[in-house]
Amino acid sequence: MSIAGGVENAPARAEAVGARSIQIFTKNNNRWAGKPLDQNQIAKFFENSKTLGVDVFASHDCYLINLASPDTEILTKSRNAFLDEMDRADALKIPCLVFHPGAHTGSGEDTGLKKVAESIDYCVTQRPDSRVTLTMETTAGQGTSLGYKFEQIAKIIERSNYPEKLGVCVDTCHIFAAGYDITGKKGFNNVFELFDKIIGLKKLKMFHVNDSKKGLGSRVDRHEHIGKGFIGLEGFRSLVNDARFKKTPMILETPKGPDGAEDIVNLRVLAGLIGKKDRKQVNLTSNRRMLKC
Ligand SMILES: [Zn+2]
Repeated sequence: MSIAGGVENAPARAEAVGARSIQIFTKNNNRWAGKPLDQNQIAKFFENSKTLGVDVFASHDCYLINLASPDTEILTKSRNAFLDEMDRADALKIPCLVFHPGAHTGSGEDTGLKKVAESIDYCVTQRPDSRVTLTMETTAGQGTSLGYKFEQIAKIIERSNYPEKLGVCVDTCHIFAAGYDITGKKGFNNVFELFDKIIGLKKLKMFHVNDSKKGLGSRVDRHEHIGKGFIGLEGFRSLVNDARFKKTPMILETPKGPDGAEDIVNLRVLAGLIGKKDRKQVNLTSNRRMLKC
């Protein structure tokens, strides 16, 4: 959800489109450094989330960070920027900090995975009091990025000295592009059985719910509106009706304009897939106002 004008504005945008759980950036996502959050802003953020009933479940780290980089200068910059991301999430009491494991940029997958685990351990030891769950996102595997196989995520967790600090975010578009076929019920069940066997469902903290503009195994990361891409409605029907994930936050990262109208459509499409028994629990957006952001 957009933080234009300040993080404190995100809850109202969520409320306007009928979202109850959101993810935000806590600073400009294309810059290394951000303006510090001030106390006034933080207080307003808490007040708005509470009064509007919006759960800001996750922050997403800045796109420049690469915790797997073999370049010492970039690695140091990345770790410091990641510590700042942890501090911001802690200040805002956001439970999960979502990050992509990183890209090995030529050093090789195994070396890259080792670097990520070392980076995580470094950051955790620098912030022993942090309460944020460092939540690794599954990736599409574009270029040299890591985390496109469940085994790679498992390896990072295994190699870290702080596995209890780590969680996983499954991005539906990314796992599909990485080759995990979730388009039908059977495929969906197989994929999450595999996830459970390799990583463990206990580690699954949240979903990024996106359709994919590119095909199965394309390893290209392009998000599409729900039901309009190669995953299609049946894959999402399995997801929203799976009892195991009933309380797992699901976050849209689908394309949208400044007024967020596309979010309303995507949320309605997803709500429409929920079986009759559970549908009355879903708070649709029909009586909500649209906010001009
Ligand atoms: Zn994502």
